[in-house]
Amino acid sequence: MNAIDSKQILMEALKFHGHRCWASVAGVRAGIAALRELKVKRSGGRQLHAFVEIGEDHGGMCFGDGVQYATGCTLGKGNMDKTPYGKLAMTVIERASNRAIRVSYKPTLQKRIGASAFMVKRGQGIEPDDIPEAEQMELVNLVWDAPESDVLAIGEIFQFDRDWLPEIMGFGPCAACGELTARAYLRAVGEKLVCIPCSGYER
Ligand SMILES: [Zn+2]
Ligand SMILES: [Zn+2]
Repeated sequence: MNAIDSKQILMEALKFHGHRCWASVAGVRAGIAALRELKVKRSGGRQLHAFVEIGEDHGGMCFGDGVQYATGCTLGKGNMDKTPYGKLAMTVIERASNRAIRVSYKPTLQKRIGASAFMVKRGQGIEPDDIPEAEQMELVNLVWDAPESDVLAIGEIFQFDRDWLPEIMGFGPCAACGELTARAYLRAVGEKLVCIPCSGYER
């Protein structure tokens, strides 16, 4: 991917993400690097699968949005899973070959990021999109312009052996509420197929 194309991916990713921040940029860079090393394109379908190690409830989770946008591995398509490690790292796997690569974000810039106007305001509880755009962009540019070896640790390609489950196709209406429900989630109650909330079952 050339510099203009990757910058466009970055700007689109930030728009999708909702604000401009260092962790989402780190995710975009990690995603672009993984595709380049595996020599694969962005996953329009489920050709790739990603495991992002972000976990839950911390300020670095924005990394996951950068990875989603850059790799096309998304929670919505179901070709991304979160691993509960609280890290800015991810593994991308090409499903057809099970070739995989892990990329992690290096903490080289964290002192400068921590001292920035953006992070000082985040520490005061100001929402990121309420921080002036120039202060958002300062950190975007810091992480985007850094040499790759300063911000990313790129592993060797390895085999990630897994039998990938096929998608279960098809939907049907719940016999009780009428709402469209994926077949695997319809439950039999007497003669009828109903959705989980209408069935009274837990799952
Ligand atoms: Zn963010
Ligand atoms: Zn129902």
